[in-house]
Amino acid sequence: MTARVLVVDDVIQNVKLLEAKLTSEYFDVLTAMNGEEALKIIDEEHPDIILLDVMMPGMDGFEVCRRIRSNPKTAHIPVIMVTALDQAKDRVAGIEAGADDFLTKPVSDLPLFARVRSLARLKLLMDELRMRETTSQNFGINMGTDLNQNVNMRNAKVLLVEDYSRVAERISNYMADIAKIDVDAVETGEITAPNLDQYDLFIISLSLNETDGFRLCSQLRSSEITRKIPILVLVEEGEGNQMVKAMELGVSDYITRPVDKNELVARAKSQIRQNRYANSLRRNNQKSIQMAMTDSVTGLYNRHFLSTHLDNLMAKENDKRKKVSLLMMDLDKFKVVNDTYGHISGDEVLKEFADRVTNNIRNIDLAARFGGEEFVIVMPETNLEYARFVADRLCRAIADEPFVISGSETPIRVTVSIGLALAGDKNLSSSKLLVSADTALYKAKENGRNQVMSLD
Ligand code: GH3
Ligand code: MG
Ligand code: MG
Repeated sequence: MTARVLVVDDVIQNVKLLEAKLTSEYFDVLTAMNGEEALKIIDEEHPDIILLDVMMPGMDGFEVCRRIRSNPKTAHIPVIMVTALDQAKDRVAGIEAGADDFLTKPVSDLPLFARVRSLARLKLLMDELRMRETTSQNFGINMGTDLNQNVNMRNAKVLLVEDYSRVAERISNYMADIAKIDVDAVETGEITAPNLDQYDLFIISLSLNETDGFRLCSQLRSSEITRKIPILVLVEEGEGNQMVKAMELGVSDYITRPVDKNELVARAKSQIRQNRYANSLRRNNQKSIQMAMTDSVTGLYNRHFLSTHLDNLMAKENDKRKKVSLLMMDLDKFKVVNDTYGHISGDEVLKEFADRVTNNIRNIDLAARFGGEEFVIVMPETNLEYARFVADRLCRAIADEPFVISGSETPIRVTVSIGLALAGDKNLSSSKLLVSADTALYKAKENGRNQVMSLD
C-alpha cells in the first residue's frame, strides 16, 4: 500500500535521507523545510501522513502539530513526531500537541516503515468511514459525530497479556491513569479473560515463557469479536524482526522494552482514541443505513426499500414469484382523524396502526409505508386464500379495538380498506402486482370501506 508522506525538517540532509528511504519503499514523498512551508503544503496537497521534526527554528514541531489539529480540514491527518533520542519530555509535549506517533533520531528503517504503513492503513479506513459519514450528512442525516475526532476516553479497558508478574504490575501502574487494566497470565497457553469484546485495547508480550504471543495475536485478529480491537505488542530491544512479523499479523502498534511510561501511555491512548472514533463512525453508518431504509413515523420499511425488495422477489423463478401476494391498505377517512384530533394525533394513529400490522404478520412478510396513510404488505409463498385470511384478520384487528393514543382522551375509531392481489399468472411484475392490488383497494373503498377486496 502506498501513501503520500510529507517530511518536515530544517536540516536538508535529514530531509534527503528520509525522502530516499521512503521513496525506495514506494511512498510518494513531499518535503518542507520549515513550519510555514509545511502548513502551506498540507493545505494544498493533503498528504496522508506527516513526519514532523520537533526542533526547528521559528515555528517548532509542536506548534505546527497544534495548527494541523486545530484546522478542521487537516485535523484528521496522522502526525509522526521525530524527536531526539533522550527527549522523554518531548513525547509528552508531542501528545499534548496532538501527535499520533513518535520516531527517534537517527530514524532506522524498520520502525519508520512499520509506523508509516500502520498509520497509512488506519487513515485509509478512517477516510472511508468519514466519507460515508459525509454522505449521510449530505442526505440530511446528521448523527452528530464529531469529525474532528474528539473522543470520550472515559472508562477505557485494557487487557494485558504478560506472564512475568513484576512486569505486569509495572505496566498496570503505568496505565492506571488512563484505563482499567486486567492481566491475563495465559497459564493455560490461551487467553482466558472473559468477554473480550469489552476491551478497548490488548497489550501483548511477545516474550511469554510458555506461550507463543504471535499465535495469540493471530487468534485475536481472526476472531469476529476481537478483530477490530487494536493490539499493542511489547517487543524485545534489537528484535526488529519480531516487530515486522507482528505488524504483518495485523498488530496495530508496538513498543520496545524496557517500556517507557510516557511512550506506553501515548501509544495506548492513541490506539484507544482511534478505535473509539472508528467505532462511533461505524455505528453511525449502521444507523444511517437503517434510517435510509425505514420510515421515521412508523418504523416500517419505506417505499424505496419496498420497491427493491419486491423487484428481487419478482425476479425469482416462476414457481416462487407466482406465489407472492400483496396487500395494499389505506386508512378510511383519515382526513377526518386529522381534522378532528390534529396532525400529531394522526401520526400516533399511524404508528399504532403499524404496530398492529406488524403483530399480525409473519417474519417472512414485509410491511412498508407506501405513502401518507397507505401501507403495503408483501407475502412470499402465500396463496390467495391465506392472504385473504390475513387481510380479514387485519381489518378486524384495526376496527374492533379503538385506538388509545396520548393526544386524545377518547379512543379513536379507525378502519382500513384492503386490496389484495396474487402474482399468479397475470401480475408477474412488481408494477402489475401493485396496480392490481390498488385497483382492488379502490373497489373496497367504493363498496363501503372497512373490508377486503381482490379482483379474482
Ligand atoms: P379515504 O377513505 O377515501 O381514503 O379517505 P381519506 O381521508 O383517508 O383519504 P384522503 O386521501 O382524502 O386523505 C388522506 C389524509 O391522510 C390526508 C392527509 O392529511 C393524511 N396524511 C397523509 N400523510 C400523513 C401523515 O404522515 N401524518 C398524518 N397525521 N396525516 C397524514
Ligand atoms: Mg385514506
Ligand atoms: Mg389515501
